Amino acid sequence: MMTKFQLPNMFEPFKSTKIDRRKIKRVLRDLPLPIKKEIDFPSRCHKGQRCLSGLCPTCMRNFRRKFLRFAHQERLASLRWSFVTVLIDGWTIKAGVYDNFGPLKDHAIIKQILQRFRRLQQPRLILFGSIETVYQTFDSDPIGKPFHLHMMISGASKKAIHKCLNVPESLSTTSAIPIHVKLVGSTYDDFVRAASYTIKQPFWEQRKSSKSKFKPRRFPTRLALGELLSNYGQHHIGGRTFYIGIRYQHSQFSFTDNVKSVITDKIAKKAKLIATPLPKTTASRE
Ligand SMILES: [Zn+2]
Repeated sequence: MMTKFQLPNMFEPFKSTKIDRRKIKRVLRDLPLPIKKEIDFPSRCHKGQRCLSGLCPTCMRNFRRKFLRFAHQERLASLRWSFVTVLIDGWTIKAGVYDNFGPLKDHAIIKQILQRFRRLQQPRLILFGSIETVYQTFDSDPIGKPFHLHMMISGASKKAIHKCLNVPESLSTTSAIPIHVKLVGSTYDDFVRAASYTIKQPFWEQRKSSKSKFKPRRFPTRLALGELLSNYGQHHIGGRTFYIGIRYQHSQFSFTDNVKSVITDKIAKKAKLIATPLPKTTASRE
């Protein structure tokens, strides 16, 4: 029997997204007009009429919850997954700079990476990922906003993943490890935590310190939030996420037709194996 759908422990409460939304509105109001003009953030977002802005914490919460529910219904946790982080050259916006990053999920490098994965012609390949950034400070001094990618990939070996991501002309040269691939643990919680981290809220401030290795994250302060809003720029919900084998259409997630039968079959077989206890044979008692 399928377990009940549950959100991970650290999932943002609905109420906090409303508070963060109000903070965004206040920061936008005070931004210089040329910057403000580029971001049409709907002033209202309520039940029955959501604003569907990719910058809206409430709509992003709904989107994240919908994705995790889809993953639960399709038993994606029963597959083996790799969690991947990729740092791309020239994707860091300096502190104090309000420039718009440009196309998010439609960035040429993301398209190139997805194309390389598709060329593997692996019918069991599923990939979901997101582009995001974080406002970093070091001993309270702002140091920049590195845009980067997180992905979850099933149906490709670590070697194949490295091969697809190793685009030397694109990878960060300033980072010691521009590609980081880690196998996700096999429990349901391991999967949900990693999936929720891959497609997360857009606004974070990370405080690094010379005194500690701990890098706490929080909702950004006023100044940081203004920059991040402007760096992300206006986009619709789902404007940062990309997939192979999954699609998001008419506000619903589903498998694409070509992976649906292969994956559904595989997951159903796995579920049956788990549900059916092994017969007690003479051999097994020896
Ligand atoms: Zn909204």
